[in-house]
Amino acid sequence: MTTGFFWDERCFWHGGGNYAGMLPVGGLVQPMNGGLPESPETKRRLKNLIAVTGLARDLVMRGAAPATTADLLRVHPAHYLERFKALSDAGGGELGRRTPFGPGGYEIAALSAGLAKAALLAVLQDEMDNAYALSRPPGHHCLPDFPNGFCLLNNIGIAIEAARAAGLAQRFAVLDWDVHHGNGTEAIFYDRADVLTVSIHQDRNYPMDTGAFADRGTGAGAGCNLNIPLPPGTGHKGYLAAMDRLALPAIRDFAPDVLIIACGYDAAANDPLGRMLATADTFAQMTARVMKLARDICDGRLVMVHEGGYSETYVPFCGHAVLQTMAGSTVHAPDPFAEVFPLRQPDAGFDAYLDTVIDDMAAHLTA
Ligand SMILES: [Zn+2]
Repeated sequence: MTTGFFWDERCFWHGGGNYAGMLPVGGLVQPMNGGLPESPETKRRLKNLIAVTGLARDLVMRGAAPATTADLLRVHPAHYLERFKALSDAGGGELGRRTPFGPGGYEIAALSAGLAKAALLAVLQDEMDNAYALSRPPGHHCLPDFPNGFCLLNNIGIAIEAARAAGLAQRFAVLDWDVHHGNGTEAIFYDRADVLTVSIHQDRNYPMDTGAFADRGTGAGAGCNLNIPLPPGTGHKGYLAAMDRLALPAIRDFAPDVLIIACGYDAAANDPLGRMLATADTFAQMTARVMKLARDICDGRLVMVHEGGYSETYVPFCGHAVLQTMAGSTVHAPDPFAEVFPLRQPDAGFDAYLDTVIDDMAAHLTA
């Protein structure tokens, strides 16, 4: 396997705001992570872990050019980009909801989108079998003209439109397993028949008013959006059941040219912004499943774009498990939480309840 890993040091320099965790705190308490709610350390520590274990030697490490203005304009209106650039040049600020940025934030966001674009193009041009973009800031919450949820540009939307403009693919499937709803990607493609968007998320975590199962797309895009909201506490078995019984069959039926994963790690058992119980092994097994599906339906073409994940201790191990699986590498990072998190999984009663939740959604899909 040839697996690309697209990253850039400058993506770790994105900053701004005065937050403690996800809440603006003003002057009341010491800000965290340079004030930004979304920490650079989760991603930097993943990149460092693959260097320390040697997994990086089994990957093709690449940088990328920033997404061009033409790339950004395929998804975001000119008035939004102009306001974003002007405020970034003026030292940073806030244009949406709890999504601050510092000086140069515009250029860093364009670079983050450029990593996603380069990863997708490299796979579609058969330069590598699959690829991972360590994009930061993340993208899946960003609407065309409204940044939210720490997302300033919609990285995956920009990558898809660049690939389409280059004539490299016609049909795209996006599976978003970040614990939060992929509301931005859903909104961009909601009326489109050529892009399937699937989001597995914690029910009413963020945003609290989007992500319902009933939201299936509109117009030509009717049936091309699938939300799979799961109750807080869903663990390893529940995630794999939702994949096997809902997400993967929908993608198989859609028959895309390429499968793109909005890869957040905030469904992990100790994430501060989620209340789920996934483990590094859950992410490895979900990765094995999407790789098999991609082999079955689109010559293995698979691209992962990093989204959320806020545990500085655990994101590196979850990401390492994903990358080891993608590359088919023997370089393993033992999960230090493996003796704890399996013991915290839901009991049989919860799993039986979750089965009824998934059964109900599956019945509606086949009705
Ligand atoms: Zn998230």
